[in-house]
Amino acid sequence: MIQKLLACLLAAALTACLFLPACAEEEKEDEPWICLVCGSESTGKTCESCSVLKGIWPCAGCGRNNIRTVCGGCGLSRDESVEKQALSGNLLTAFPAVRALASEGRPDALCALSDYYMNGIVFPRDVQAALVCLMKAGDADYAPAFLKLGKIYDLGQAVEQDQYLAMNYFRMAAEGGMAEAYWYIGTYYEEGLVISRDDAKAVETFRLGGENGDPDCWMSLAYCYSVGIGVERDPSSALSLYEKAAEEGSALAMDYLGYLYMSGTMMPQDSEKAVEWYTRAAEKGNARSMMALGYAFRTGQGVPADPEEAVCWYEKAALAGRADALDVLEQLGNQ
Ligand SMILES: [Zn+2]
Ligand SMILES: [Zn+2]
Repeated sequence: MIQKLLACLLAAALTACLFLPACAEEEKEDEPWICLVCGSESTGKTCESCSVLKGIWPCAGCGRNNIRTVCGGCGLSRDESVEKQALSGNLLTAFPAVRALASEGRPDALCALSDYYMNGIVFPRDVQAALVCLMKAGDADYAPAFLKLGKIYDLGQAVEQDQYLAMNYFRMAAEGGMAEAYWYIGTYYEEGLVISRDDAKAVETFRLGGENGDPDCWMSLAYCYSVGIGVERDPSSALSLYEKAAEEGSALAMDYLGYLYMSGTMMPQDSEKAVEWYTRAAEKGNARSMMALGYAFRTGQGVPADPEEAVCWYEKAALAGRADALDVLEQLGNQ
């Protein structure tokens, strides 16, 4: 009896094996596919949204629609075109290619797709879907996904805040070479979040992050030297670290150097140098520096006074989210 049962099971297994390829072929008909023209997911022979035929792709090189694997217009291959489209720099143009590559499990595309869900671009905002994308990318050990996950749980804006989980993700991101993750880990040590406060570890982590290419880590290390956290207080080391951070692209450090020069803290006062640093920080989107430039042009500190230029900077600051810029604009308007 048992033997018969085993034989039956074996036969069933064999049949399943034999028929599996055929079944898989048949299933492909109904397998969802991503339309490269509009980015919608469909199962039939035509796109359910834009009704182009399955397999049609718009060439990212010349714009022509193709069905073969090489563009008849410019010779770009389908794969090259999809890559190019995904990297177009325009979220809407890139979307179909990003979604298609993500559906193939490409971790970089999954990471990019998570931003669409997270910010409600193309799709309605869907935090769970964003997390699923990032987890999948994380399964492939894709470090940028760990950094994004860390930031999401660190802020807890869209999910319940979980700094313990965030810390784990930051550690994995740092191991995977994401220098920015060191800044978060260092800050956790400095503030004693989740882990017990350890100033020496904070200093060590900031240094490591800076050496790995994160300029904000130099900025935080500079702060440690300027007040004596985990190291002996040393203003001159602090100053050269602020400069290092700014030179390597930290907008926060540029803004802070602007402040130091303008106020003559730690160095002789120099309004012109201050304006130089504020301008560099503002160009990188630093809203505090935009305010400072508004004030400099309004009062003629470090630059010839120029009321129109001042208004222009206050407007930029307001657009970058500084509510106090609106108050100043109102005052200026009433004068
Ligand atoms: Zn379509
Ligand atoms: Zn082409």
